[in-house]
Amino acid sequence: MKKIAVIGAGASGMAAALYAARNGARVTVFEKNSIPLKKLMRTGNGKCNFSNEQLDLRRYLSEDPCFIKDRILDYTNKDLLFFFTQIGILAKSKNGYLYPYSEQALTVANAFLSEARSLYIDIKTDSFVNMIAYEDGRFLISVEGEKERFSFDRVIVSTGSKAGLIKSEKENGIKMLESLGLSFTDVYPGLTRLKLKGYDFSAIKGVRCEATASLKVNGESLMTEIGEVLFYEEGISGICIFNLSSLCTPYLKNGDDVKVCLDLVSDIDEAGLIEFIKTSSLLNAEKPVGEVLSGLINDRLSRFLTDITGIDPDEETGKTDFDKITEFSKLLKNLEFKVTDVDGFENSQVMAGGLKTSELKDNFESKKIPGLFVTGELIDVCGPCGGYNLQWAFTSGAIAGEKACY
Ligand SMILES: Cc1cc2nc3c(=O)[nH]c(=O)nc-3n(C[C@H](O)[C@H](O)[C@H](O)COP(=O)(O)OP(=O)(O)OC[C@H]3O[C@@H](n4cnc5c(N)ncnc54)[C@H](O)[C@@H]3O)c2cc1C
Repeated sequence: MKKIAVIGAGASGMAAALYAARNGARVTVFEKNSIPLKKLMRTGNGKCNFSNEQLDLRRYLSEDPCFIKDRILDYTNKDLLFFFTQIGILAKSKNGYLYPYSEQALTVANAFLSEARSLYIDIKTDSFVNMIAYEDGRFLISVEGEKERFSFDRVIVSTGSKAGLIKSEKENGIKMLESLGLSFTDVYPGLTRLKLKGYDFSAIKGVRCEATASLKVNGESLMTEIGEVLFYEEGISGICIFNLSSLCTPYLKNGDDVKVCLDLVSDIDEAGLIEFIKTSSLLNAEKPVGEVLSGLINDRLSRFLTDITGIDPDEETGKTDFDKITEFSKLLKNLEFKVTDVDGFENSQVMAGGLKTSELKDNFESKKIPGLFVTGELIDVCGPCGGYNLQWAFTSGAIAGEKACY
């Protein structure tokens, strides 16, 4: 019987532990927190969007997207649903996004822990692993504050990343693996807010609106997303913005011109929009132009745009320079902001970049150190919002856990 250590009782670590124990291993999980699956319980606003019915594998970002795609084909969303059914979690789909039927991440965590108990998995909480040594084909695990080192045949490193952690929380997964000779790509925050330049966003803080958002680098459109955007004091947020954010950092570091462009009325073409504004301006020539233009979009956003175009909102519509009104309507279709940065790890959902996939075999075992497996977010992969990242965590955990037993 193989003795396997799993470092980290998060999504991928718990999946690895369950699959290893099901395949006959004696499993010990080391978790630095006092409770397992702490991050999982925050996912999907506490509802746990654990996968997606229509996983589009081209949407995973990685230096080696083929590795990611092939591994998910080895353990798909259907395999995950089957596993969830086995441990008593009924799933439901909301526009393709998969959630537990309870819409409570807690029920997923409880089902994992109940299964772990029935498989006699030993979960050691408050156990921060600070070193993994590889000696004579065995792994020696050191836990902070403990003198004894624990010896194992195999080790699965599932420590996740610092995404979503408060600054004081310790995180050492990358350092531990680097000290064993494994190499990483650059890492940066993914799925996070964009910091923008050029305007005082406090005037529109809290405004939400539907938009088509595009990321442009040096004038070239790289990615377009549709959804709700939300302004905050330093810039812009929302699921579609999160998805764009994961691409930004390498370009920003390179000094490229990075912009986010919003179409606030994407279901109306520009000619139709100008025609509407022209007619409305003629019919309401005596009303203040600010009132006339605020009939189109959120009134605070409308005031923000009249400021940009230099329109005096109190002026009579008929007396306002029509070129400025035309400029206003063009901004509705193409509102461009310069991106200066992405928000930090603390406010991000995932880490982009990670362990180079060239370090791993298809079963998630290190090519350099036999018996060492790595799972989840530590690996160079970043999915969009919509259950992609938990699917990856479960895929990598399930495969590594099973394969580590042989
Ligand atoms: C707010 C938020 C919401 C999210 N919502 C979603 C969502 O709805 N859908 C989705 O697909 N993804 C979501 N994600 C992303 C998803 O949670 C992660 O991709 C996923 O949890 C990664 O799994 P993991 O096992 O790699 O890491 P984690 O789940 O982070 O687990 C790592 C574990 O290792 C422990 N650990 C770390 N270092 C050590 C050490 N040295 N010794 C012992 N233990 C250690 C940690 O305490 C942690 O428990 C969200 C993320 C955040 C922050």
